[in-house]
Amino acid sequence: MLDSTAMTMGKDKPAAGADMVAAIRDLSSRELAPLVQKIDTAGHYPEAYMRAYGRAGGYAAHLPSETAPDIDTAVRAMAAAGEYCLSTSFCIWCQDALGWYIYASDNDGLKETLGARVATGAALGGTALSNPMKSFFGIEGLRLKGKRVEGGYIVRGLLPFVSNLGDDHYFGAVFEVEGETKQNVMAIVPCASEGLTLADNTKFVALDGTRTFAVQMRDVFIPDTLVLAHSCESYIKRIRAGFVLLQAGMAFGLIRDCINLMQQVKGPLGHVNKYLDAQPEHFAEQLDAMERKVSALSATPFETDPGYWRTVIETRLVAGEASVAAAHAAMLHCGARGYVTTGAAQRRLREAYFVAIVTPATKQLKKMLADMAH
Ligand SMILES: Cc1cc2nc3c(=O)[nH]c(=O)nc-3n(C[C@H](O)[C@H](O)[C@H](O)COP(=O)(O)OP(=O)(O)OC[C@H]3O[C@@H](n4cnc5c(N)ncnc54)[C@H](O)[C@@H]3O)c2cc1C
Repeated sequence: MLDSTAMTMGKDKPAAGADMVAAIRDLSSRELAPLVQKIDTAGHYPEAYMRAYGRAGGYAAHLPSETAPDIDTAVRAMAAAGEYCLSTSFCIWCQDALGWYIYASDNDGLKETLGARVATGAALGGTALSNPMKSFFGIEGLRLKGKRVEGGYIVRGLLPFVSNLGDDHYFGAVFEVEGETKQNVMAIVPCASEGLTLADNTKFVALDGTRTFAVQMRDVFIPDTLVLAHSCESYIKRIRAGFVLLQAGMAFGLIRDCINLMQQVKGPLGHVNKYLDAQPEHFAEQLDAMERKVSALSATPFETDPGYWRTVIETRLVAGEASVAAAHAAMLHCGARGYVTTGAAQRRLREAYFVAIVTPATKQLKKMLADMAH
């Protein structure tokens, strides 16, 4: 069914733009909605859905290639999934980030091989950039250390949380190489590498269906063919706005569902819910304004002006805070209906905090804005 909806451009090509988002919306209502409880309570990873999302073109819109990167469409597709499940929309963001890293690099060989498979969901994976993103903004040191060897690097270290992984998955990472001058290298790491182990030893309050692992690297060889940037400072500046803007998809889907939850109880509970300070109409207006802002910022993800970067950070901060506020309001509107273990409101509230704590977390965003003011 999906294939006939999504393949409007030609026999084997997925649909683009609004058609693709409509196909993802249709796919999500059929294949993701029934899994939401299993994902939340049993930590189920919706692999078949993740692959179908890729076949529908969901992981390709934002990739810079012959066409300009369409981050706006990628955000809308992610939000269509996020209306049902934040755990899954986060996995989609992980996959989107992985493709973004590859296609924004100069490594053409990698684009043609792994990149093409990531773009369709044939290969899955994620990103270990929380630690580097904190490191580059003066919060903590880099956790991975590398050594230059013939044809590549040997890397060691431990990353506490990397999501959307599996034995045959991949992730983007940054390691520090000591030498005459310190150098930060960004590369793609295959989970199947010798010396790499994945440990699944954490239970989260939500987002347990994200296949999040602690990654231990013990002298893992990373060949030059997997390197995205041998000295990654300017490359990180190139990818950072896209990395942050794409996260809006998680926030927008969640907020839209919280608005729906508030609207749904208007019939039975509107006569008393109207006394609550936060009303769905307020969040709908705020969502509309945020969507327009992200859409405008998405048009120029490689913009180098510091004012642009500052606006991206401000917008991301608002999206995290609005996610928590909307989920909190949905909980108050739904009352006991939302407080039962199968209630959507309590799940959305647990999920919402993730938007505010995933890197760049609210506290990091506030630090970045404070640092920019000096
Ligand atoms: C469900 C989930 C999925 C995540 N997926 C990814 C991912 O795919 N890629 C990625 O790079 N990051 C991932 N993270 C990390 C996330 O982006 C944040 O970095 C993390 O939530 C902490 O951010 P913070 O800025 O609030 O740091 P703080 O909570 O203030 O933490 C400071 C430091 O302590 C570390 N830390 C916190 N708890 C533990 C622990 N139990 N054991 C060891 N170290 C710990 C943090 O990683 C961080 O470096 C994930 C986190 C969660 C909860």
